[in-house]
Amino acid sequence: MKDTRKKSADSDASQVADSVANCGAVSGANYTDNYTNIDAFEKKALDFIASVDDAIQNQSFSPKERLAIPLQEMPTRNPLERSRQMCEVAIGFTESMAILEANRCLQCKNQPCVAACPVHVPIPQFIAKTAQGAFKEAVDIIKTTNLLPAVCGRVCPQELQCQSVCTVGKSLKDIDKAVGIGRLERFVADWERERNLITIPEVKPETGKKVAVVGSGPAGLTLAADVRREGHSVTIFEAFHKMGGVMVYGIPEFRLPKAIVAKEIEMLKEMGVQFRTNYLVGRTGTLGQLLKEEGFDAAFIGSGAGLPKFLNIPGENLIGVFSANEYLTRANLMKAYKEFAATPFYQAGHVLVVGGGNVAMDAARMALRLGAKKVSLVYRRTRDEMPARKEEVDHAEEEGVIFRFLENPIRILGDEEGRVVSIEVLSYELGEADESGRRSPVPIEDSEHLIDCDAVIIALGNNSNPLMAQTTPGLDVDLRGQIIADAEGKTSLPAVWAGGDIVLGAATVILAMGEGRKAAASMNTYLASI
Ligand SMILES: Cc1cc2nc3c(=O)[nH]c(=O)nc-3n(C[C@H](O)[C@H](O)[C@H](O)COP(=O)(O)OP(=O)(O)OC[C@H]3O[C@@H](n4cnc5c(N)ncnc54)[C@H](O)[C@@H]3O)c2cc1C
Ligand code: SF4
Repeated sequence: MKDTRKKSADSDASQVADSVANCGAVSGANYTDNYTNIDAFEKKALDFIASVDDAIQNQSFSPKERLAIPLQEMPTRNPLERSRQMCEVAIGFTESMAILEANRCLQCKNQPCVAACPVHVPIPQFIAKTAQGAFKEAVDIIKTTNLLPAVCGRVCPQELQCQSVCTVGKSLKDIDKAVGIGRLERFVADWERERNLITIPEVKPETGKKVAVVGSGPAGLTLAADVRREGHSVTIFEAFHKMGGVMVYGIPEFRLPKAIVAKEIEMLKEMGVQFRTNYLVGRTGTLGQLLKEEGFDAAFIGSGAGLPKFLNIPGENLIGVFSANEYLTRANLMKAYKEFAATPFYQAGHVLVVGGGNVAMDAARMALRLGAKKVSLVYRRTRDEMPARKEEVDHAEEEGVIFRFLENPIRILGDEEGRVVSIEVLSYELGEADESGRRSPVPIEDSEHLIDCDAVIIALGNNSNPLMAQTTPGLDVDLRGQIIADAEGKTSLPAVWAGGDIVLGAATVILAMGEGRKAAASMNTYLASI
């Protein structure tokens, strides 16, 4: 075993210093981490390691001893300070913490965690390498099935996937005590990136065949990498000026630093994938033109679900009402918080967010970072029914977001200039469970009341953008506008595949990647046959 532990205190300190230095302060507040002290986390891990040193060196733990290793919590920044800064909330494991956490894994023979991972990452194998301090080998194992481990380690809902079936969580009768698979994935990916050790996947000799990819989200990027590896030329067409899809314009910097996504895209560039930004397929040129006139042999549509849903209540056109998509895109992609930004953000004292999912949490926490004095979130059910990840709800609450449960808006009111001044809501109570299994919200008669606010963000989820279907004759879509694709991702059109949110509806990064991978396998077979 390579012993990396002795130098971990120094390198961990510099890792934290680097991330602090890179932390762009929005409000100008100075960073002092007195909330979770990384040194204390590190000391605890080192003390425990010292008490079981031989077992770690020889990997001779009994299952009972492994279950007794304490779960390593994720250090995070001080909520009061971080709520006014864009820097990443979670700080990440130190080397000692990662080694200790990895040693909690029981290396189950039946590997339930692998079956529960949408892209079947060889989880016990990468964790075994992490437990030995062989971090580069660990990340290389993950990359055999997952192109974006630094992203997935941060944003995947592991508690619903691999960690939900982890034997350790089950044995300890608490799923929150499962092995921190996502945290370990993040750690080894960061370890590799921070040391410039990323290896570029091998690309086979050029085949002369050309593939067009619509959209640079996780589905498009994954397909591009897998198809490029076979030696085919791949061009990604992206409507925005930056690549990365929702990972760049939707998920905020404080959860997923954009530099990490940029690094992953850099790797694709080095593999020879070509990028054409500011190219809206369906307007700049159609898919038919790319295939017939520009000589592309096949195409993949990974255009996502970027069309926001609205409440359809009076007042939604007032100044100061935003979809969460617009609000987050202004902040993330257009850097609206910066002085002299091309699209400045809307100054508001009390921002009211409507919704209970992850997008609502992101919008509410972003509003705090953009300077709102108060941010409230209105949700028509209760905390137990919220679809957002528990961790995101807890983080939002710690940062000062006020939750208003069992309320739903019925109209938005404005002043004589058409600016939002308040929102009228109705109170609800919980009734019987509906088809989703959650108790349904039932309105309480005559319970209308006003909440004063200066801005309203509607975060109810997204539908598919209809442009591709409207401009691509013969492309079949379902009643919700989602492209119909078979088990291999093939659409109704020859040589055209689709995947990700445009097929699944608003889903997750890892599911989009799984779709890209599946379609790439089918497309590679097709390209080899023509
Ligand atoms: C605010 C927010 C937070 C989220 N948080 C999480 C999370 O924490 N964890 C998680 O797993 N998932 C999260 N998701 C969901 C996740 O990001 C998506 O499921 C995933 O990004 C879908 O990937 P995709 O490749 O299908 O599409 P997208 O990521 O949506 O990418 C599609 C790309 O296609 C481009 N495009 C669209 N139409 C065209 C066209 N006609 N021509 C050219 N380009 C086009 C778009 O500009 C975009 O860049 C979140 C979503 C949002 C909105
Ligand atoms: S289920 Fe949990 S304990 Fe078992 S191999 Fe997977 S991560 Fe390890």
